[in-house]
Order: sequence, then C-alpha cells, then structure tokens
Amino acid sequence: MKNFEECRRMYWFGAYGMWDGWDARADARTKEIYILSKLKNRWMWVGEVVHNAVAELLETYRAGGTVAEIDIRERMRVQWKSSRDEVYRQPRKAKTTALIEHDYNIEVDDWKEVALHAETCFQNFLQSSYHNDLKELTRDQWLGIEELDSFFLDESRVFVKLDAVHRTSDGIRIVDWKTGRKESESDPFQLAVYALYANDAWRIPPDKIEVHEVNLTRGKVYNRMISAPEIEKTQGEMIASIREMKAQLASSPEENIAQEKDYPVTEDAFRCRNCRFQKVCTDRPAS
Ligand code: SF4
Repeated sequence: MKNFEECRRMYWFGAYGMWDGWDARADARTKEIYILSKLKNRWMWVGEVVHNAVAELLETYRAGGTVAEIDIRERMRVQWKSSRDEVYRQPRKAKTTALIEHDYNIEVDDWKEVALHAETCFQNFLQSSYHNDLKELTRDQWLGIEELDSFFLDESRVFVKLDAVHRTSDGIRIVDWKTGRKESESDPFQLAVYALYANDAWRIPPDKIEVHEVNLTRGKVYNRMISAPEIEKTQGEMIASIREMKAQLASSPEENIAQEKDYPVTEDAFRCRNCRFQKVCTDRPAS
C-alpha cells in the first residue's frame, strides 16, 4: 500500500510487472523486472539477516533444541560475495542475496559498519530479557515465529508476518524486532493489521494484545497500545486504499489484470533515487 501511495508505477512493477519473470519463457524485460523486485538495500539486508538469525534461534528453542553459535559476520560475508558476483542473476538463483548497491554499482564506504550494525543488533537480542523469556516458552504457548499468513479485508487478502507471537495468561504478546538506525514511531497501520489479524486468527480482542517493539540497535523496548477507535479509523483507510487499487485494474478484481500505462510514474524525481526499478522505468521524471 505504501508503494501505491508513493509511486503507482513502482507498485505496478512489484505487484504485476514481475509476474512470470521466473519462467524461462518470459520476455527479457519481465525477467529483468522480476530480478529487480528482489533487490534490497544494505540496511534492509541487515534487518533480514538479524530477523532470520533470531527466528532460527527461537524455532530451535520451540522444538526443544539448543543452538550452536551463530556467526553473523561470516553469514554476511558469504551473502555479500554472492551478491557482488551477481549470483541472483543466474537461472533459479533469484532468491539469493541481491543488493541494490551491487546491481546499480553504488559506491559504499561503510560495509564494515553494516556488518557491525547487524552484529550489535544480534548481540543486543542475545543479552535482552526477551531471549531468556522466549526460550522458556512451552510449545503450547507459541503461536508463531516469522510465519507468513493472511486475512481478508473488503474481500481482499492482506498478508501479515509477525516476528514472534505467543499466548499470555489472558491474551497474546506480539514481539516486533526493529533494526533501523533511527528511533521508530508507532505505526498505526501496522498495529491495526496486527489487531485485525489476531482477531481473525485467534479471536483475540485489541485490549488483550500486547505489542512490544524491541529496538535492537539501542536495546530499547516500546510497548504499543492498540485502541479500538484507532483500529476502526485505520481499517477505514485501508479499505479506501484497497478500493482505489481495485479501481485501477483493467479487469474485474477476480481477473486481476493491470496494465502498466494505467499506473503513472511519480512526479517527484527524488523518490526515484532509491527505487530498485530505475533500470526498467523509461518514463521516470528527469532529475
Ligand atoms: S524509477 Fe521513479 S518513477 Fe520509476 S518506478 Fe521508481 S519511483 Fe516510480
């Protein structure tokens, strides 16, 4: 939804233009859009590496096992090399690490800082009370670790992935790891999605949901509250966006056909600077 607001063409590339790009019979441009749709910048990569390592630990604890040391730096070294060698451009390798800095030849002088940041975040997790608390949970208490799920809103599927969620004595607790370098504000959209999903999946009302945002960069915790009026307001905004997206289609929502020409490019050239689709976006504004 964020892409749809920022640049409709960017939304089209990521939601429609890339479709079938994994198929060897696809045309060259569709294949290229598919590959570009997998690019992430180095700070998004940090988030992915840390989330994966934390999820791996928690999954092992949930299964009753113990984990050997996780070497974040070594993992990143292997992934960085794979991205630099553009392995993601080889057949059936599109899901390997693909960094926008490598694909667009962007000079980076802080790669060591990137690895250090990821290591710090992971160490902060290991030393946090959450590490011990989550380790002690029984299988019955766990509800999910980084599982992709969905619910329906206005007859459209909304996808959600919770970092960690478990039962408490009278409700549930959702733990959300943050690895950004800046303080994060409470995001009403994200909180509303959590509440709507919790109600759909487990019939849990908003006042029984605790959301703990854990800033792993600074080791700080923010307890976010979800209020019923706020959910209702955000839900209304989400439905309005969903209807606008459907109105843009060249077919019925069931057929879900979208044509590139119906999705205008942004007029703000500044937005294009970090866009992964610059290589295929011939209509983008001049900078
Ligand atoms: S390059 Fe600019 S105009 Fe094109 S999709 Fe990206 S943000 Fe939109």
